[in-house]
Amino acid sequence: MNNVMKKTGIVLLVLVLLVGLGACSRTVNTMERIADNDRVIMGTNAEFPPFEYRDETGAVAGFDVALAEEIAADLGVELVIEDMDFNALIAALNSGKIDFVAAGMTVTEDRLENADFSVAYFDASQVIIVQADNTDINGADDLVGKRIGVQEGTTGDLEASEIEGVEMFRYRKGIDGIMDLKNGNIDAVVIDGQPAGVFVQLNADLRMLDDALTVEEYAIAVRKGDSAFLSSINASIERIKASGRYQEIYDEYIEQD
Ligand code: GLN
Repeated sequence: MNNVMKKTGIVLLVLVLLVGLGACSRTVNTMERIADNDRVIMGTNAEFPPFEYRDETGAVAGFDVALAEEIAADLGVELVIEDMDFNALIAALNSGKIDFVAAGMTVTEDRLENADFSVAYFDASQVIIVQADNTDINGADDLVGKRIGVQEGTTGDLEASEIEGVEMFRYRKGIDGIMDLKNGNIDAVVIDGQPAGVFVQLNADLRMLDDALTVEEYAIAVRKGDSAFLSSINASIERIKASGRYQEIYDEYIEQD
């Protein structure tokens, strides 16, 4: 073996070792970091009632927070919440700013390329909201060519963008789209069914159509390959479902009246 071959061999070996180490340490690190810091960091966008919103005290509350509290309790650490744009969540996860995403986030093929997802914890769908006296839009077919408001980067955005001839209005917060709908600047808002229910209940001049546009599932996102942490989250979700705690959280945030 000549010198060049030897050197190349050593360089290759070192590279393989480094890549291997990187892959292992990443999976171990989240669990270790959580234990070392005595806290786990949830990323969310607190503009999505009843899953996450600001309560009277200004704290982030909601279904996802209650779920995350259970996950943190099972880990024996404190829950810390980072509130940011919905669109920024996966990047924040992959940069290590947060440990997991709980944000009414739908599992999609695209997102599965950049994150791993837990077992599903909620069945969801995209619905249409219009002004209460609108007689023109009665279902998805009537959205062709209309001005549609969505929260940027959501499945509602993806779905509505597919409709022929639509003019898209993308907002950082769903509520901003609702305001534009009330003002008549847009014809409809496409958003998840649960927040839609909350917005319509608070605004008598709006109504939600019966027809849903999609069938989706919410799950918690973790960094790709973070398998020990993901197993722990899945075990927590299964425990919560089996123990009746899930039903309590559901009754508190989803079926309030
Ligand atoms: N479920 C939608 C999505 O995952 C919207 C989530 C949200 O706005 N928080 O894209």
